[in-house]
Parts: sequence; C-alpha cells; structure tokens
Amino acid sequence: MQVALDTLLSFALLSAVFVPLERLFPAQRQRLLRSEWGIDLCFFLGQYLLWTAPVVALLVLVQRKLELLPLAPLRAFVQAQPLWLQFAVAIAISDASIYWAHRLSHRSQFLWRFHRVHHTAPALDWLAAHREHPFDNAYTRLVENLPLIVLGVPLHLLAGFAVFRGLWALFIHSNVALTPGPLRFVLGAPRLHHWHHELARGGQVNFANLSPLMDLVFGTYHDPGVFPERYGLAEPLAHGYLAQLIEPFKPRRGARPAQSVQALNTYCLREMPNDPLPSTSTVNTANVVSASAALSKRVVGISSSSFQSPSLRESR
Ligand SMILES: [Zn+2]
Ligand SMILES: [Zn+2]
Repeated sequence: MQVALDTLLSFALLSAVFVPLERLFPAQRQRLLRSEWGIDLCFFLGQYLLWTAPVVALLVLVQRKLELLPLAPLRAFVQAQPLWLQFAVAIAISDASIYWAHRLSHRSQFLWRFHRVHHTAPALDWLAAHREHPFDNAYTRLVENLPLIVLGVPLHLLAGFAVFRGLWALFIHSNVALTPGPLRFVLGAPRLHHWHHELARGGQVNFANLSPLMDLVFGTYHDPGVFPERYGLAEPLAHGYLAQLIEPFKPRRGARPAQSVQALNTYCLREMPNDPLPSTSTVNTANVVSASAALSKRVVGISSSSFQSPSLRESR
C-alpha cells in the first residue's frame, strides 16, 4: 500500500515539474497524451511498483559480496582525498562506465534484446524515459553504481546519487528545448539524447549521460543544432507493455542498428572492393550511399539518409 502511495506521489510530483516545462519550452509539438503514452505509463508503474525493489536488492547484494574483497587500501586512499575531488572522480568514473556499457548494449546481441525496448518509444518526453526493460534497468543501475561501491561510497550517498541520475535521465528524455548554452560540451541536454533515439541514427550517436565529454573524445558526439523529426526503431516491434517485457526472450526478428552498419560494410567490401566502408571515418561517399539505399531495403528497411551524416560513425 505504501509503495502504491509513493508511486502516485512520485507521478504527481514529476508531472508537476516536467509537464509545465514541456509546455513552456517544447522541443516538439505533441499532445500531452501522445502516441503510446499509455504504454509508457505502464513502464512507469512497473518500474515503481515491481522492479525498483529487486534492483535495489541486487545492488545491496553486490555491495555485500564486494566487502569480501581486499578493497580497504583503495578506499582509504580515496577517502583521504578532498570531498570535491572524490565527488568529481566518482561522477567521471560512473559516467565513463555508463558510456561504454551503453555502447555495448548496442553492440551485443544479448544486451540489445533488452535495450531495444527503450528505443521503441515513438515519441519522447519525461514519461518515455521509463520505457526500460527491467533487465536493462538492472544492468544500467549496476554499471553506474559498481565503481562507486568499489570506491566505498556509502549506500545513503549512492541513493542520493541515484535520485539525481534518475531526474537527469527524465530531463534528457523530456520534450524540453533547453540547452546549457556555453556549457554544452560539458553538460548533456535533451537535444543530444533525442538524437540517440532518432529513427535513422537509433543508437549510433550520443551514448553519454551526464556529460557529453566521452562522446566528444570517442567520436560519437552529434548535435546538428535542431531536434530530430522522428524517433523509434525501424525494426519490427512488439506493441504493449507485456509484449515488450516478453519479447527479449523470444527468437529474434530483424537486425540491430550496429548489425546494419556491419552488414553495409560487408556488402561494400563484396560489391565495391576498392571502396569499403571505413570503420572510423565518415560515411558519405556516393558509392556507399547508393549501396546503403539498396542494402537498407534488404536488411533493415531504413532510409539511406542514415548513412549520409558527416558525423555518423560506426559504433564500437
Ligand atoms: Zn534514452
Ligand atoms: Zn541506447
């Protein structure tokens, strides 16, 4: 009963913060009860009513297991540093872990089964941020907290950090056109994460969370200065909350985004051996574009425009 009341209260508080923001600074013109709003509400309720408790239990279990390791010297060294430095290093390590774990979610077929659920949202707002398979949610919470647990950050500070990260996740998914201005290379923003959800580039750019620095360093930063027009996946989708929870356990249909780029590379090597798709350079030659148009119809049914951006690089 208490969990249900907390869930209702959280929904009311979050709505009170984000709905006015989305009305005042809209990134997209969309109705409050936009497409698939009900499915995202189910994910919200599922996360609060069912999945948060097991995920927290998993984190506590991991913390107890780590206590068995000889981490005392490392923790003593960390705790001897100034508090601001501990905080900055903790955020940097956590953000770097999330960046690589997120990229791995788009590379690993196993992880993509679960993470793709998050990418099925056809529209973004604060509620769509909750569209996460519980396994994907557990994976993310574990990755972002594991370095902090190893460093000996107490559980109550971890909880505060998790709340902050949770609110930030809602902000970067929200339908809000606010940007950090001159701090845009240091602080993330909704526009960056919206491009991560864009239909054609789905999951090939902007993997970072709090700060885009990792994207800048590793060549996955993408910000054309406007919001994308379409969101979601070009793959076949399951519709409905329960269907999306079950789908990762069923035999896979369709290809994941990284696979489509790999398939394009294989196609180019076979059809145009003198002009293969370079794995780390921009993908905008006429040959590759024409190949991508033909291949995209055969492999994933996505538009050739997804291979034309000078900032688009293969995810690795
Ligand atoms: Zn997202
Ligand atoms: Zn993603």
